[in-house]
Amino acid sequence: MGKRGIQYFTLSEIEPRIWFMLTGCNFRCKGCFRPARDGGGTLLSSEETLERAERACIKHYGNIPSKAMITGGEPALDREYLLALVRGLKKKGFKEIVLMSNGYEIGREEKGDYASDLVEAGLTEAHIDIKAFSEDIHIWYTGKSNKPVLNAVRMLNDTGIELLIQTVYMPGIVEAEEIEQIAIFLSSLNHNMKYRINPFAPTFAFEEVSRRPTIEEMEHAYELASKHLPNAIISRSCYREYPTPPPQETWITVYPDLTFKRRTIKDQEEDRISWLSHSKSKPREEILHELTFKRDDFEYRQKLEQVTRSFYPSSSNPNSNKEPRD
Ligand code: SF4
Repeated sequence: MGKRGIQYFTLSEIEPRIWFMLTGCNFRCKGCFRPARDGGGTLLSSEETLERAERACIKHYGNIPSKAMITGGEPALDREYLLALVRGLKKKGFKEIVLMSNGYEIGREEKGDYASDLVEAGLTEAHIDIKAFSEDIHIWYTGKSNKPVLNAVRMLNDTGIELLIQTVYMPGIVEAEEIEQIAIFLSSLNHNMKYRINPFAPTFAFEEVSRRPTIEEMEHAYELASKHLPNAIISRSCYREYPTPPPQETWITVYPDLTFKRRTIKDQEEDRISWLSHSKSKPREEILHELTFKRDDFEYRQKLEQVTRSFYPSSSNPNSNKEPRD
């Protein structure tokens, strides 16, 4: 079994849980904003990853929290590593084990029933991105076919675990009609599938292939999707700096050497600026100059907050579904 690069773990103070940020990805999405895409981090076996995650949790929470989220980059690249990680988390007492993936490896036919193996190992929930329904758009945007991705959604749905599918609205690339096609596909598998539509955020995108959608465009996509899926929602996960940002102590980053840091929004921006500067071989000043024209205004974020819907509007904790900023 191979090792995977771990960029860091994230601990939440809203609700005890831990995120695993694995590096490396098999896609090259033009609009990617995740430095973890390009590898790096500390190479660890699944046992080493579990041991450090456990030590981080014990140090901060005093015990093992109930929820673990495995993200990246792409966490499913090494099947044996991922299965061992999920098995180990279950053994350590995690009750909810969530995988966030582009689905490609899980749905490849030569991989057999990767989805069932994950569920047998202890996976309880998967979040899968469908970047585009049209094969040509998907290949252009990610560099890969979407057939394995759609297959992964089918296979995961067949296992009966909790499933959330997400698509980013990108004006001129993935618009309302494309999103409706995805909703029709999902509805054919499971009418109650949860489906989240996120707006494209150009600020830290690797390539500025699109603009942010207007609120009206997002509403239109939602209307078309919700004709087929009652559990469709508009979300905002590309917009991490909410109009009402959570207190800075909300998220704690733990590096693989077990140093802890409360990273601020500024720290996270700095990571992205360094990543863009390094991977595009551009001087930092040039990246900063470009960013000044791409920042999202406060009014847009406020309006987005207003149209954001929740799967469970009666949920008592409005922060419970928020994800950490990278
Ligand atoms: S957006 Fe996700 S799937 Fe696409 S390249 Fe970036 S990390 Fe990979």
